[in-house]
Amino acid sequence: MDSYKINLAEKDISESYLNISYYLNKYLGKLPEPPLHPGTKQPAGPADLSPIFPMGVIMQEVSLDEFVPIPDEVRELYKMFRPSPLMRAYRLEKELSTPAHIYYKYEGGNATGSHKLNSALAQAYYNKQEGVETIVTETGAGQWGSALSIACHYFGLKCKVFMVRISYDQKPYRKVIMKMYGSDVHSSPSIQTEYGRKVLQENPDTPGSLGIAISEALELAVQDEKTKYALGSVLNHVLLHQTIIGQEAKKQMEMAGEYPDTVIGCCGGGSNFAGIAFPFIADTLSGARKNTRFIGVEPASCPSLTKGEYKYDFGDTACMTPLLKMKTLGSDFIPSKIHAGGLRYHGMAPLVSFLHEEKFIEARAYEQLEVFEAGVKFARTEGIIPAPESSHAIKAAIDEAMVCKETGESKVILFNLSGNGMLDLQGYDDFLSGKLKN
Ligand SMILES: *Cc1c(COP(=O)(O)O)cnc(C)c1O
Repeated sequence: MDSYKINLAEKDISESYLNISYYLNKYLGKLPEPPLHPGTKQPAGPADLSPIFPMGVIMQEVSLDEFVPIPDEVRELYKMFRPSPLMRAYRLEKELSTPAHIYYKYEGGNATGSHKLNSALAQAYYNKQEGVETIVTETGAGQWGSALSIACHYFGLKCKVFMVRISYDQKPYRKVIMKMYGSDVHSSPSIQTEYGRKVLQENPDTPGSLGIAISEALELAVQDEKTKYALGSVLNHVLLHQTIIGQEAKKQMEMAGEYPDTVIGCCGGGSNFAGIAFPFIADTLSGARKNTRFIGVEPASCPSLTKGEYKYDFGDTACMTPLLKMKTLGSDFIPSKIHAGGLRYHGMAPLVSFLHEEKFIEARAYEQLEVFEAGVKFARTEGIIPAPESSHAIKAAIDEAMVCKETGESKVILFNLSGNGMLDLQGYDDFLSGKLKN
């Protein structure tokens, strides 16, 4: 039997991020439509975004370069947890009696347990470079908030986090983690902002949403020059930072002597899916590879890719963000209280939405119970407790492997295991004791 684990060396950490916009521009001759200014409805330029974001990330939003260099300071910090391992899921394959080869890239092995640290470190770096003192942000399940918290701490920045109320209550330990790293954490909607107070007055029992939390964070960012905002998904620069995952995976698949037939990732705002998929989609666009399938997986309760409308919409609830052309359920959509908190977002990254619209990627949605069942099966075979978000990707990988069992094809399936679920045990407990509902 070949090895379970395919490791790269520190020196193999990529020196640059891979920019899918370069490939779209060069080979497809088309790009997603630009963001629009919320007031004028004209294309939003760098100057419109500069009160919110540092110029370093704004330039990445619009870059058409093939590669964007990773700053040395960021690469140095990546060495603490990268390259991440690529695993062959032999035990899962055996359990399923499938001829498929299943591989997963494990992004849950770092300090905060998910892929989010890849972008948090880069964003903290660019803010620090430009003299920012405080970063405000939102967090759903808390993975982004904890990643940004330690990243801010490493770069000597203050961090203020608005955490969606349902997660603040359901997942109390994440807020402890953020406080451990020195951040200020507020349950959102909060009384810290005008918008939060308004929402609370109108709907005191709201579970909150990412859209509301983003509005709160933005309100503070625009009020102070030394305070900027950071987003953990959706925008081009965040997806760009995550391509470090797929670039490593490509090298590792090569070491395994394989190339994936199917690449799978769960989709909240689209960043971890983009991270694993874009370097392979680049091969499809350039014509280097044909027939690779890409599958984005989302919860049936928040189906922006499968059921959303492709149109300009706001990224937040208070309609403060630029308008983004994306698959959306509407910026006032409040998703139900599923445990995969990281997937409860009304919109999908413009780049992922565009690629779906152009038929480069497929999308599917699963109910909560079948997802948890897949997560338990994975834990019992591979040993890792997956984040409920990641279990969506696992479910799709298992379904694809079961198709291979019927057809007898030994396809190569690669999925991103975006995070571990050690802080999601309440959800698994509810599932195991039959309390969880779709
Ligand atoms: C945040 C999160 C997601 C969803 O966000 P994307 O931007 O779509 O990747 C998925 N998995 C985990 C573990 C997360 O923390």
